[in-house]
Amino acid sequence: MRAVVFERYGEPAEVREVPDPVPAAHGVVVRVEATGLCRSDWHGWQGHDPDITLPHVPGHELAGTVEAVGDTVTGWRPGDRVTVPFICACGSCPSCAAGDHQVCERQTQPGFTHWGSFAQYVALDHADVNLVAVPEEMSCATAASLGCRFATAFRAVVQQGRVAAGEWVAVHGCGGVGLSAVMIAAAAGAQVVAVDISPRALELARKFGAAECVDGTRTPDTAAAVRELTGGGAHLSLDALGSPATCAASVNGLRRRGRHLQVGLLPSPTGTTPVPMARAIALELELLGSHGMAAHTYPPLLDLVRTGALRPDLLVTSRIPLDATPAALTALGTAPGAGVTVVEPWA
Ligand SMILES: [Zn+2]
Ligand SMILES: [Zn+2]
Repeated sequence: MRAVVFERYGEPAEVREVPDPVPAAHGVVVRVEATGLCRSDWHGWQGHDPDITLPHVPGHELAGTVEAVGDTVTGWRPGDRVTVPFICACGSCPSCAAGDHQVCERQTQPGFTHWGSFAQYVALDHADVNLVAVPEEMSCATAASLGCRFATAFRAVVQQGRVAAGEWVAVHGCGGVGLSAVMIAAAAGAQVVAVDISPRALELARKFGAAECVDGTRTPDTAAAVRELTGGGAHLSLDALGSPATCAASVNGLRRRGRHLQVGLLPSPTGTTPVPMARAIALELELLGSHGMAAHTYPPLLDLVRTGALRPDLLVTSRIPLDATPAALTALGTAPGAGVTVVEPWA
């Protein structure tokens, strides 16, 4: 099969022939029809993820058709259209037993712990635990966008953030996950303040339901702007970018007893990020994380997509073939971009 491969961190990836994957007894091999390009892929390529071993094939936001099935898989057969959360769970550890597959103690992540979906085929583990059927009317490009950013945003806003109609929600960083969060919070009846430094990103945020937009290039203190626009601070605020500045701005833009959701990854040389904890104490803030979304919690999300309340299809702003992927991966470092780029490995 053809795949995007890198041999060294930070050096250009290339498209070349590699052996086809074979399924584990509990796994499947999926023919990849569409797979999203994500900033996490860029971090992995830069060497920020300790799970990766070289040479490596990135890619973790996929949808496609089951091609081959392992001996012990009971729920899936060749030809089924499927997607997966980017965190694939084992199904048997204590966290999985509690239903918290998104923090599985023996999780695998395609494109990180093993070769991923910037390829014509990808192997996925524990298929009966992790695969999600793609509804007939949903395209694979749309389904691919669910697995990482849209599901992560849904878990952050709805499951962890407990958004309620009428609340103010601030979203710092309006890339794929941020725009998803804007759409999901607006659909839940919240009033959304979108913060970004890109006019294009803010334009999309407004299109997806943001009531207010803050341009970080013209507003040095975005937290103060959020507090002003929301009459004292947001009830719920997301750092959807992942930087010390956006994390602090999110916490500082909250009202009393507000909830901060850290969604964007925060790689740093020391592995830690400064957080305004004095404010967390004085205002009784909640500081929460969100890490993917368990496959078994997808049905309410899929229902909202089916009724048209959520439109993940509108987030897909470009489609590229495998050959254009190495350059697009490189470009993510300097231009995170607005919206979602989908790779189509058979195009
Ligand atoms: Zn992703
Ligand atoms: Zn587990």
